[in-house]
Amino acid sequence: MSAKILDGVALGKTIRAEVAAEVARLAGNGRKPGLAAVLVGEDPASAVYVRSKGKATEEAGMHSETLRHLATISEEDLLAIVDRLNADPQIHGILVQLPLPKHIDSDKVLRRIDPAKDVDGFHPVNVGKLVTGDQSAFRPATPYGVQQMLIRSGIETKGANAVILGRSNIVGKPMANLLIQQGPGGDATVTVCHSRTRDLPAVTRGADILVAAIGKAEFVTADMVRPGAVVIDVGINRVDDASHPKGYRLVGDVAFAEVAEKASWITPVPGGVGPMTIAMLLQNTLQAWRQIESH
Ligand code: NDP
Repeated sequence: MSAKILDGVALGKTIRAEVAAEVARLAGNGRKPGLAAVLVGEDPASAVYVRSKGKATEEAGMHSETLRHLATISEEDLLAIVDRLNADPQIHGILVQLPLPKHIDSDKVLRRIDPAKDVDGFHPVNVGKLVTGDQSAFRPATPYGVQQMLIRSGIETKGANAVILGRSNIVGKPMANLLIQQGPGGDATVTVCHSRTRDLPAVTRGADILVAAIGKAEFVTADMVRPGAVVIDVGINRVDDASHPKGYRLVGDVAFAEVAEKASWITPVPGGVGPMTIAMLLQNTLQAWRQIESH
């Protein structure tokens, strides 16, 4: 393997320690940042995410609340919960774990969150702020984590050709919006690809920085990567594996072994982008607290 590993576990730990130090410095007299997570239904993956977010929040010295509700909760009741959290002075960040049950309009719920507490950065107000380069925007945690990995590993984005595979509102689009902003971790020339892109390998081979976020196991193969490219793998996919105790293992959107022979830097799955996401969520909660307190 020739590529250097971008270690999201170590970097995520560093960022979490920085956030915790900042909380310890600024908190006092009962004042500290608070994050509320709302979990609807029994989805096991969502339950795991919410549990680890709660644990990380407490470890950072923040107030953490997890509100669990049955999948049968009505949209009206869920909106009322969001309203209560919006008004709660102990809570500075609110996240509603997706996916929500089908009878609930997710957009409506996400738009009900006070933009000042929208630490996921999915509310249109924060999306607009991100696009226009407003520093008070909450940057969606996963692409924000990718950007931090690049900055903190000394990978130059200025003038680089960045190709993003995937155009979701959670990863692909905010990733593009971060990389085209002026300043550190930005100033890239960005191309966004999706399922309608013509001759995808030709486009990805033009990338100095390739971000894969499509949710297809080991989709990006070595022939799609330029020698020396930086390859960031956001994908998390389960593939059956009888030799594994759980009967499956996790792989990314990148065929790691072959691409690692060609890339200059690469993120592993697990242990790459995933741990950065929680770290950036804590960073966003600290940002929300500061912004709310300074008003
Ligand atoms: P979505 O399913 O919302 O979006 C997938 C995108 O990939 C779409 O834009 C789709 O195109 C595009 N796509 C799908 N197939 C192809 C193809 N064959 N060629 C080109 N483009 C294609 O996924 P998310 O953005 O939510 O997530 C992507 C991956 O990242 C998933 O594996 C998810 O689990 C993971 N993830 C990881 C996180 C982390 O913390 N590390 C956080 C969030 C997600 P089109 O729009 O045309 O349909």
